[in-house]
Amino acid sequence: MMNNTHNNLRKPITRLAFVLCVPLLWAATCQTSTAPILPAQAEQPLPLDTTSTYTIIAAADSNDLSVAARVYTKDELLGRFEPAKHPDFEVIQKKHTTKDGIYLQRAAYADFQRMWEAAKAAGVDLSILSATRNFNYQKGIWEKKWLREKYKGMSDRDKVADIMKFSSMPGTSRHHWGTDVDFNSVELAYWQSATGKKVYAWLVQHAATFGYYQTYTDKANGRSGYEEEKWHWSYIPIAREMHRQFKNTIQYSDITGFSGCKEAEGLQVFAVFVDGIAPDLLPK
Ligand SMILES: [Zn+2]
Repeated sequence: MMNNTHNNLRKPITRLAFVLCVPLLWAATCQTSTAPILPAQAEQPLPLDTTSTYTIIAAADSNDLSVAARVYTKDELLGRFEPAKHPDFEVIQKKHTTKDGIYLQRAAYADFQRMWEAAKAAGVDLSILSATRNFNYQKGIWEKKWLREKYKGMSDRDKVADIMKFSSMPGTSRHHWGTDVDFNSVELAYWQSATGKKVYAWLVQHAATFGYYQTYTDKANGRSGYEEEKWHWSYIPIAREMHRQFKNTIQYSDITGFSGCKEAEGLQVFAVFVDGIAPDLLPK
């Protein structure tokens, strides 16, 4: 899939870049392992003041990614917002997903729709299983796993390391950004089937034309972090810039509000997992 050059990403700017001025209202603190588990839906709405002033800033230069000038708030980078209330997010239509009320950033969704049409014309069905998952949603997954019977007596560090084999730590998931999608199935058996192989081959050959790249590729090239995920594709024209800003602005002290959050630094979650993507896709 890396045969595609990044020239594919040099697309004209089609929309204005904005600075969303959102005060950092969230003041969550680390919780102990005895914290109650609340389903994501039951939690307090995450703060996002959609009436805030937008400020137009300089557009990216022609050699840069199409939305490189957008400045993201910490809340956006950490997934601490409600996609349904965010002006840059759009609900995914029924024909593109099996889920209700899931969202992507508008630019990512526009190019997904072009890709979906092209795939369909080639006899390949793409269905979005998962798109934006905010902090609260990811925390719901995390806290449920935290209380597993098999973790009784285990250190927090070992629990975190075990959960992270398959799940992102809240605040560090690319699914927070509204740029990343899971297609068709998260079961290995599907991707080993004739249908799965056909879908994957099509994505490898064509997805980059629409800005989508597989982030969790085969680890043979030295990539760290999660195991290979053939279903997880990222809209790099936005995601690479969000990743760059994440690296520049988010600190371990920002990774708070869930069981085991204090282990993030010791496990070097930023270097091992956030940066554990296909090397070609890392921020420059
Ligand atoms: Zn995913």
